[in-house]
Amino acid sequence: MKVIRLLTTIIFAAMTVPNFSQNQPETDRISTSAGDVEIFFIGHGSLMFKIVDYVIHIDPVRSFGSYENLPKADLILITHEHNDHLDTTLIERLKKPSTQMFSNGASAAFVPWAQVMKPGDVKSAGTIMIEAVYAYNIVHERSKGNPFHPRGVGNGYILTIGDKRFYVAGDTENTPEMKALKGIDVAFLPMNLPYTMTPEMVADAARAFNPAILYPYHFGDTDTQKLVDLMKGTNTEVRIRDMK
Ligand code: ZN
Ligand code: ZN
Repeated sequence: MKVIRLLTTIIFAAMTVPNFSQNQPETDRISTSAGDVEIFFIGHGSLMFKIVDYVIHIDPVRSFGSYENLPKADLILITHEHNDHLDTTLIERLKKPSTQMFSNGASAAFVPWAQVMKPGDVKSAGTIMIEAVYAYNIVHERSKGNPFHPRGVGNGYILTIGDKRFYVAGDTENTPEMKALKGIDVAFLPMNLPYTMTPEMVADAARAFNPAILYPYHFGDTDTQKLVDLMKGTNTEVRIRDMK
C-alpha cells in the first residue's frame, strides 16, 4: 500500500513539474485582423513576434535570454550594429533557407544576405509591411558633437500586421520624426541611459503620437514607474515587461 502511495506521489510530481516553460520568455497577445500577434519579451532590445506560424525576430541577441526553445525566423529585423542589437552567430542559428533579413547598412556589412533599409524605405515580407524610420540622438552624446546614435545610421521599424501598426523604435530619442508618427497601436520605446531616452523624453514622444499601448523596452536601470506616473491621464496604456 505504501509503495503504491509512493508511486502515485512520484507520478503526480512528474506530471506537475514544469518542463521547458521556465525557459520561455513572458508573452502578450494582441489581436489583429490578420490573427493574434504573440509578443515574446526576450530582454533588453530583443523581441520575437509570432503571427499564427510566421516568426519575426527583432534584434535577437543571446545574452538577453534563451533562444533554445524559440523557433527559427521567417523574418529578422536588425535596427543597428551595436552588439546589444546585432548578434551574427545567433542570426545564422535562427536562419532557414527562406528567412529574409532587413537591417541598416552598417549591420548588413556583417551579414551579406541582409537587405538594407534606410529611413523611409518600405518592404513587405509575408503579409506584413515594414517601414524603416529614423532612430537617433539629439542631446545624448559620447563626446561633444558625437551622438551615441547619429541620424541616418540606425533604423526603427513600423510593422503593419493586419489592421494594427507596431512601432519598434530601436536606439533613439524623442525626435521630431517620432513625434509626428500617426496611427501607431503598439509602441516599444527605449529608455536606458545615457544611450537613449529619459522617462520624460519617452512620455513627451508618447503624448505626441499617442499609441494605444506603450512598452518601455531596452530600459536598463531606468525607473519604469516614473514613466507610468508621467503617462497618467493619457489614453495610452503603459505596460511594463521584463525588458531591462
Ligand atoms: Zn545602440
Ligand atoms: Zn542599444
